[in-house]
Amino acid sequence: MAKIGIALTVLLVSILSVPVIAQPRSWPDGKQAAVVLTYDDALTSQLDIAIPALDAAGLKGTFFLSGLRADQVGRWRAAAAEGHELGNHTIFHPCARGAFPMPDRNNTENYTVAAMLGEISAMNATLTAIDGKLQHSFAMPCGQNLAGGVDYIEALRQSGLAPYTRDLAPVGARIDPTGVRSIWFAESATGSDLIATVKVVEKTGGLLVLGFHGVGGDYLKVSAEAHAELLAYLKAHKATIWVAPFSTAMDYVTAHPAK
Ligand SMILES: [Zn+2]
Repeated sequence: MAKIGIALTVLLVSILSVPVIAQPRSWPDGKQAAVVLTYDDALTSQLDIAIPALDAAGLKGTFFLSGLRADQVGRWRAAAAEGHELGNHTIFHPCARGAFPMPDRNNTENYTVAAMLGEISAMNATLTAIDGKLQHSFAMPCGQNLAGGVDYIEALRQSGLAPYTRDLAPVGARIDPTGVRSIWFAESATGSDLIATVKVVEKTGGLLVLGFHGVGGDYLKVSAEAHAELLAYLKAHKATIWVAPFSTAMDYVTAHPAK
């Protein structure tokens, strides 16, 4: 999975130039904006670098796990026990043919909607075995919504397998907990680039969901320094910026609809 989404990389870079979700609304304790930090694919650099950095800053992140390694389950369990969220990113990370090198059986062209939901259900059971929670949020592999050429998102919504889903929903739409847009960064992004996106939602009072793969290692990475600068900014502004795991933020959005 070393090259997940070459095409995705292009997409990620293009997303940088568009506005983040900026629907004004209230946040807990009178805070002005909300930021959610999400990390995909169960990467070692997340365990080695991102989680220690989050812990040092007193912040909690959301980790959408896929391709889980047995020898790292204990470390993910420990992360969950200290308040980080584990989310569902499927077992085999199925994406469209050509997204990155993978066995043909894992291409979504070879899936059906039922097979995709079955895999998501099985991953939920794995996550429950790790963190003891019965519900888990979901993030679509490669941000893609097809199984055998059929959009599976509505079936996923109907299934009850995932209360909330992170995806590439239309910019500027009302916050829809079953399709929450995320913002990603190019490998060249600096700490200032990351912080600039936060400053946008500080001004507008919106929700910012950031997506990461590697942090200081692995692939599609941001540098450990840029990531640390972002966390330092969030920590310094904790009186006005609410940093919460994805499901926690979506629970709040669901319970407090925008006026
Ligand atoms: Zn992924």
